[in-house]
Amino acid sequence: MGKRIGIVGGGPAGLMAAEVLSARGHAVTVLEAMPTIGRKFLLAGKSGLNITHSEAHERFATRFGAANGRLSAALDAFTPEDVRAWAAGLGTETFVGSSGRVFPKVMKASPLLRAWRARLEAQGVDIRVRHRWTGFAPEGLRVETPAGEVTIGFDAVLLALGGASWPRLGSDAAWVGWLADRGVDIAPFRPANCGFDIDWSAFFAEKFAGAPVKGVVASSPAGAIPGEFVISHTGVEGSLIYAHAAALRDRLEGEGKATLILDLAPGRVAERLAADLARQGGKASLSTRLRKGAGLDGVKAALLRECRPDAARLSPDELGASIKALPLALLRPRPIGEAISSAGGIRFDALDEDYMLKALPGIFAAGEMLDWEAPTGGYLLTACFATGRAAAEGMDRWLSS
Ligand SMILES: Cc1cc2nc3c(=O)[nH]c(=O)nc-3n(C[C@H](O)[C@H](O)[C@H](O)COP(=O)(O)OP(=O)(O)OC[C@H]3O[C@@H](n4cnc5c(N)ncnc54)[C@H](O)[C@@H]3O)c2cc1C
Repeated sequence: MGKRIGIVGGGPAGLMAAEVLSARGHAVTVLEAMPTIGRKFLLAGKSGLNITHSEAHERFATRFGAANGRLSAALDAFTPEDVRAWAAGLGTETFVGSSGRVFPKVMKASPLLRAWRARLEAQGVDIRVRHRWTGFAPEGLRVETPAGEVTIGFDAVLLALGGASWPRLGSDAAWVGWLADRGVDIAPFRPANCGFDIDWSAFFAEKFAGAPVKGVVASSPAGAIPGEFVISHTGVEGSLIYAHAAALRDRLEGEGKATLILDLAPGRVAERLAADLARQGGKASLSTRLRKGAGLDGVKAALLRECRPDAARLSPDELGASIKALPLALLRPRPIGEAISSAGGIRFDALDEDYMLKALPGIFAAGEMLDWEAPTGGYLLTACFATGRAAAEGMDRWLSS
């Protein structure tokens, strides 16, 4: 006999759970606060929708930091290969990009979301938009609807309300207090995959905001990682910064300061660089020395001057050393509302192995509202799909036990 199941949140985690549970014959209702489902998923599509990653699964499964262990069963049950097969089943073929990241061939999310919604509706899922969960009532969930507030009772509920980044897309973390009041342990939300503020001079910020810094290696406690980033009015943004973001954020929280070390000329060894700089002669301007001796101009040369105002007075050895290890002093992470994703959320200790809240039997949780984080690279969506499926399986087991 099918049961009545409420899924709160129409993002990747909630929709994946709806797919599994409706296929098992349950009557599934998705309650979504916004006028349409999957807004963050669609926004992810604007930059191509990096849906998963092609690296070896053993490596893939280590990308979730302290949560690796708790996520492994869900990730083993819905691997990156499964993600690609699932998308293909909905008419979205994928390809592996040069970085190993996996994207839909159409480089957007809307066709996939459209086909997914059609599949869910064909399986009988009742999707109710503009239905905002506002807390618990004795008989069920309190829900704000266009027709006023109602209480809806279900046999089981999955919460998939997302994290705390980009709240205007729906995931505003308003639920934290409602669950905390019921004894659910929640780690404070923090920005992940975020930019950082730097005290740029007005000249540098104005002239170089928006400029990409390509072909560098950046080092932090996260390791030495090659890539590129973008100068912003307030600091730095972009994929290379996001790769270091968790480590830098933790260091800022712990020590009050953090530095990202840049190698502006990763192709050259320090000794060779110093010799090439020395050959330019003492009379050459700094710009000429940098251009001819180190191949640096434009934003890279400006970055060096910005971070080493004394660059013109440095010896070739010192200048070469600065080019190979330029310290960028970070002030703070950008606000969580601007981050790609968030760290924090419902702690795994508050969940049983089936993703059910220990304090609230019959209520399950999945997706970014749980306390895990990962770099960009398709890890976020894959873990949201995988935990949505794992929680659905857990709920199905609980309902039939
Ligand atoms: C700019 C950007 C680009 C990204 N690109 C990528 C990418 O390329 N690859 C990748 O892997 N990840 C990417 N991500 C991250 C990824 O989109 C998220 O991790 C993922 O969408 C989280 O899924 P979720 O289902 O847990 O939550 P969400 O997608 O946030 O969905 C939660 C849903 O719950 C609804 N909701 C919230 N509160 C209530 C309530 N009280 N009542 C009813 N409904 C409610 C929200 O409206 C929302 O629809 C990107 C994120 C951003 C911001």
